[in-house]
Amino acid sequence: MVREKSLLSSIRAICKSSAGLEFFFPNQSFKFARFLKGTNWIAKHFSITSKKLGKTRYYSVCLCLNQIMYAKHKMLLDNIRKREENDSTLGNPKIDKEEMYSSCLELFVKKYDFEGALSKYLHAYDTQSANHEDIFVIGPIGLGLDIDPKLSGVYVCMAGGTGAYCFLDFVAYILRYMVSQINKQLDLTENSIDADEEFSDIGEDFCLVYMSSFSDKDNGVYTDVCSELQRLDNKYNLNRFKFINRFSDSQPKQPRWSTGFIKEQLGVFTGKISKVFLCGPTPFLDDSQENLLSSGLVSKEQIRFV
Ligand SMILES: Cc1cc2nc3c(=O)[nH]c(=O)nc-3n(C[C@H](O)[C@H](O)[C@H](O)COP(=O)(O)OP(=O)(O)OC[C@H]3O[C@@H](n4cnc5c(N)ncnc54)[C@H](O)[C@@H]3O)c2cc1C
Repeated sequence: MVREKSLLSSIRAICKSSAGLEFFFPNQSFKFARFLKGTNWIAKHFSITSKKLGKTRYYSVCLCLNQIMYAKHKMLLDNIRKREENDSTLGNPKIDKEEMYSSCLELFVKKYDFEGALSKYLHAYDTQSANHEDIFVIGPIGLGLDIDPKLSGVYVCMAGGTGAYCFLDFVAYILRYMVSQINKQLDLTENSIDADEEFSDIGEDFCLVYMSSFSDKDNGVYTDVCSELQRLDNKYNLNRFKFINRFSDSQPKQPRWSTGFIKEQLGVFTGKISKVFLCGPTPFLDDSQENLLSSGLVSKEQIRFV
């Protein structure tokens, strides 16, 4: 558990409005894992306080957006594509000891360009001459997704904007599982991040439906990975993953997630949906809950706000 003064040591853009911010702890020698197995840690978060601004805000753990881990997950997918194309120049996605831990905590923060917003303040942080007494970090905190030890039925994750960050490690977990299944079919032996990772909690009927919504392409995150995963799910008949994405500014306009759209997309899972997780801004949560309930596909007890 971290309860420490911190300094920001680097800021790396991941899309137009969000960046990965690395928090360094000058008084401690913490080690933060870049890769964790299982699911019980997914969507836990850290609180960040600026004494100067007098504000505390929360940011989700999202390991798969780390630069090293993003590249490794991409490589898993690229290796499959290369095998399909008879290209023998496969990469090695295995994680080694040096890559496993970082001395910095990386969190992904969207910049809200409003006076006094903590995110704006962090994005403008001077990593060279910052005040050691300003930023205080606590975490990991919260229940996270609090996923059942056995994954069965259909899980639907609906994200508005940065709400995506609390679901992407779940997507990455299912990605690694799906890749492990396809590896067997293609006789790919070295295509894993950790060869000892087990997926015994994934039931035979489990499927993840991941729905993300971003203002535009420049603000989309992980959509390239999810689209490729969808392609693999279709091609190898896995029925483990369904990806629905919406860019609000797209032309022609993509449908909003109305009751009708939810029925159209999720109707095929009637009677099979175990849980729906919602994460995003308050209006998004209110609308989504209302539309889900009026679709008749889920009850209030099945919906969880992350
Ligand atoms: C559990 C949890 C996990 C989270 N994880 C993440 C994460 O991983 N990444 C992430 O980026 N965020 C995350 N958030 C959101 C984050 O905690 C903050 O709410 C967010 O960074 C905004 O805080 P802020 O101080 O920058 O902006 P605030 O000042 O709090 O402003 C936020 C909102 O207020 C409105 N607003 C403020 N000022 C104005 C104005 N002048 N005019 C019009 N509208 C205005 C804006 O619409 C904006 O949406 C998470 C939240 C929770 C609860």
